Amino acid sequence: MKQSPCKTCGACCAFFCVSFPDNETNAVLKGVVPIEMTSRLNEFKSYMKGTNSHNPRCIALDGQVGFKVKCMIYKNRPSICRDFILSWKNGVGNLLCDRARAVFGLQPFTQY
Ligand code: SF4
Ligand code: SF4
Repeated sequence: MKQSPCKTCGACCAFFCVSFPDNETNAVLKGVVPIEMTSRLNEFKSYMKGTNSHNPRCIALDGQVGFKVKCMIYKNRPSICRDFILSWKNGVGNLLCDRARAVFGLQPFTQY
């Protein structure tokens, strides 16, 4: 199976504020995101620590952006991460993916 280009990227994990509904943390029944890796954003939402700053980088991101990365909580990552699709994976571009990659000097995908 072809390796996902995300494994040599990680730009979106080091560019956006990664926020999601509070009930996705493991502090509640059926929540999975490790609460110790999160902080409260507001009354309803939490965010991955490290992503709500001037130089964001998710606390769960291991490795070097643009070379080799790994999400340390991949199976328990928030819905926003699960729903973020790399450009052209399904034949559709994702400008946010392109934008995050550009910040790190990585070319946008036209296909992969
Ligand atoms: S920016 Fe795009 S290619 Fe890079 S890790 Fe995120 S989804 Fe994957
Ligand atoms: S939880 Fe994982 S996929 Fe989501 S931003 Fe952090 S490192 Fe990236």
